Amino acid sequence: MTTSEQLFEKAKTLIPGGVNSPVRAFRAVGGSPLFIKSGKGPYVYDEDGRQYIELINSWGPMILGHAFEPVEKAVRDAIQYSFSFGAPTRKEVEMAELIVSMVPSIEKVRMVNSGTEATMAAIRVARGFTGRDKIIKFEGCYHGHGDSFLIAAGSGAVTMGVPDSPGVTKATAADTLTAPYNNLAAVEVLLDNNQNQVAALILEPVVGNMGCVIPEPGFLQGVRDLCNKHGVVLIFDEVMTGFRLAKGGAQERFGITPDLTTLGKIIGGGMPVGAYGGRAEIMNVVSPAGPVYQAGTLSGNPIAMSAGLAMLHHLNDHPDVYTRLDEIGEKLATGFRAGLQKAGLNYTINQIGSMFTLFMTERSVSDFADAKSCDLPLFGRYFHAMLKRGVYLAPSQFESLFVSVALTNDLIDEVIQANEEALLEVMSDE
Ligand SMILES: *Cc1c(COP(=O)(O)O)cnc(C)c1O
Repeated sequence: MTTSEQLFEKAKTLIPGGVNSPVRAFRAVGGSPLFIKSGKGPYVYDEDGRQYIELINSWGPMILGHAFEPVEKAVRDAIQYSFSFGAPTRKEVEMAELIVSMVPSIEKVRMVNSGTEATMAAIRVARGFTGRDKIIKFEGCYHGHGDSFLIAAGSGAVTMGVPDSPGVTKATAADTLTAPYNNLAAVEVLLDNNQNQVAALILEPVVGNMGCVIPEPGFLQGVRDLCNKHGVVLIFDEVMTGFRLAKGGAQERFGITPDLTTLGKIIGGGMPVGAYGGRAEIMNVVSPAGPVYQAGTLSGNPIAMSAGLAMLHHLNDHPDVYTRLDEIGEKLATGFRAGLQKAGLNYTINQIGSMFTLFMTERSVSDFADAKSCDLPLFGRYFHAMLKRGVYLAPSQFESLFVSVALTNDLIDEVIQANEEALLEVMSDE
């Protein structure tokens, strides 16, 4: 048994499923998860001392590579002043100022401790602001584990949601309406059938959580127009896309202005941080400025703020990071396409900037039904074939790759080579 396997056996006796977040357990790809000991630049090292090229990067935050020195230094500098006060600090003001300057639609912002907290709060704020109860989300979009978001679609766009998880009440599910991504007509039907009842529409402006799915031309603008027409608060969940697709996120890249934005992942530089913000008129309903309650003992934590500030300052001051991320994404997509061709496969690749998914399906993928048509057992074998070659992908078909700028051209070539070999290997098993 490897050290990772031994740790996993023990972890399973102590932690549900042996992990503190489900996808880490490798259930979707089979096998036993790697226990990671350290990371530096483009690499992570497991407990057995093996080195992997990183394409997870903590699901996004390590966009500058592991243990990036300015972030590490900021944390070291901060810890000498104690770790938490539960009182306002200068760094929170700096953080708010920086976020407002970077993200086009945000006028006021509140810090929280995770993406999930951000989306749960944003929904409450939208409900408090509009006095309405229902929300619209899209099938296959993930907005954290809040009750309102764990809703699968019924059959057809106009059915009420049913809970996706035990423990979510029917009443909660009934307030969540769902539509297929990229389907404006379905949204219009929901809004027409629920006049003056919908508080918010929330979406990933580019989806990462069913694999990478890109909004079709006009979709985001169409959603914006429908929200205006019906007085619905438009929430861009940019927990993944924020500070990734541009320094101002997808809203900057596509030039669409949401009312509220949720942020996470990159914003903490690897520390547990989230944020939500938007139009001042809406954010002013948040306590203590207004009546909508939302709080957090450790929110705006000075160590977390220091890491996040160092990360965001670097991104803000180095626009070349985004040029390079786009270049890396394009190089990978081109190389992976060549690999598919050599293996005689006609599978789909979706890529925009540094978001990228190889879908094991011949369908073009523009919504969750398309994504679900993938050959999942094949993906599992491919995942392990890549791992064997030292490339650590997200252990699920329904994820985007998360590249970092630490990937050199040589490493990109290694990944492309590994992809080609892995595809040939799994196809020869067929
Ligand atoms: C990761 C993610 C979340 C949840 O963030 P956590 O920090 O894991 O709670 C919410 N929305 C999107 C789009 C995400 O990618």
